[in-house]
This record gives sequence, structure tokens and C-alpha cells, in this order.
Amino acid sequence: KIEVSGVVKSFGSLRAVDGVSFTVPAGTTHALVGESGSGKTTTIRLLLGLEEPDEGGVRVAGEEVAGRSHASLRALRRHLQLVYQNPFTSLDPTWTVQRLVGESLGRFKVGTRRERELRVLEALRAVGLDEGVRGRRPGTLSGGQRQRVALARSLVLRPDVVVLDEPTSALDVSVQAGIVEVLLELQAELGLTYVFVSHDLALVRQLAHTVSVLHRGRVVEDGPVEAVLGAPEHEYARALVESIP
Ligand code: ATP
Repeated sequence: KIEVSGVVKSFGSLRAVDGVSFTVPAGTTHALVGESGSGKTTTIRLLLGLEEPDEGGVRVAGEEVAGRSHASLRALRRHLQLVYQNPFTSLDPTWTVQRLVGESLGRFKVGTRRERELRVLEALRAVGLDEGVRGRRPGTLSGGQRQRVALARSLVLRPDVVVLDEPTSALDVSVQAGIVEVLLELQAELGLTYVFVSHDLALVRQLAHTVSVLHRGRVVEDGPVEAVLGAPEHEYARALVESIP
């Protein structure tokens, strides 16, 4: 379970996140939607402990995320993984898939070399990739395969919570459908909790159970997806839903 309560984060005079609260029960999916600059990315950075809130708090599985030492935040990270929008832009393009997916296992000193190899295989299978991709480099993979590798990279530590920043925005519609299927399967099998940011309301309908609509750093409407997207009450939420077919 994730509990975000009244988090505030300012950059200079701008309150980028201005008192955001939401709760995500374990094993469910929560989406954050809103126009560019509404505070979605800052909210997930607060959730992951990558930013410290000025006010409010974040609890993940009963543990407070804010105010932790570097070491204890690292320990929490094992349970709380982020999948970036463009996962490989900051990584060495010469790394193989085996090394990319297994990297965190080495960092956390999980098991023997052989056990780490098996964990990488398990993660690749979980996202529907053939073990033959282990020796490939991300540059030689398709967009959909790369997104699966990114997902495998986050799953290898067997986290409880996976945070996704625009999980399918860079992909073709047909490839998107495959990723959605994998995400749903993983949730059913492993009981994962997802929080994701998206501009794509169709994706929100497919994946999310609950949604928060952000506008200028505040939640203007939230609740079950069918209710919020089906019959939005707030003027801004209505405009957002009407603007996107
Ligand atoms: P997008 O959909 O474009 O990613 P967003 O809803 O995720 O937007 P945020 O990235 O959270 O919005 O940004 C909210 C506001 O905070 C924006 O006005 C942004 O310019 C500002 N902001 C975010 N991070 C910083 C920072 N590190 N320093 C200064 N301002 C920032």
C-alpha cells in the first residue's frame, strides 16, 4: 500500500506539487494524469524518495520514504522500482541485455553469479522475451523489446511497487498493446502495485483502477477510473477528458 499525504514541493516561488494526496492499495494501479507541468513527474519523484517534500509525507508498505539516509533509501529501492520513459538514454550502449538487467543484482550483492544469471532469465521470461536476447545490445532491439528489457531491469529485484513514467508513449499502438498485456499479467501473477504517469487516457482506462487528475500541482479530481473518466465533475477534468478521444 502506498500513502501519499499532503505533499508539497516548491522550486523557488513555484509550488510544483501543492498538497497532493492519494492512496494506492497493494496490487492495484493508480494513474496520474494532467497537462504538461501539472506536477506529475515531481509527484512520482517524491514517491520514490528522489525529492524531499517541503511538507507532507509518503509511506510505502508502512515505511516513511522522506527523510531517509542514503543507505536506507537504497534498501527501500529494492521494493520500489522506476521504469523511465526513455530507459536507455543514460546507459552505456555497449552493455548487453544480460548486464543491463542484472546490474542491480550485482549492486545489491544478490546471490552467486549463477543465481544472478537465473534471476535475469526469470525476469526476461516474465516480460515475454526470449533468452536469446541476453547477448544483444539495446541499440539492436525494437522499441517494444527495449521497453520489455527496461521492465525486466526493474523486476529483477522482485519489487512490490513499480512506478512507470509514460510507459508506452514512445511505442506504436500494436506494440503498446503487448506491453499493456505484460503489465497486466505481471500484476495478476506477482501482485505488483503500479503508479504511472500518462497523457494517454485510453491506456489509463486499460491499466488503472484509480486515477488522480492534477492541475497546477493540485489534485482536482480523483477516484475509480470509470467514475473520473466516465463522468468527471471538475471543470478541468471534464475539459481534459473531452480534449482526448
Ligand atoms: P510533463 O507532463 O511535461 O512531464 P509534469 O506534469 O510531469 O509535466 P513536472 O515535471 O512535475 O510536471 O513539473 C511541474 C512544474 O515544476 C513545472 O513548471 C516544472 O518546470 C517545474 N519543475 C520541475 N522540476 C523542477 C526543478 N528541478 N527545478 C525547477 N523547476 C522544476
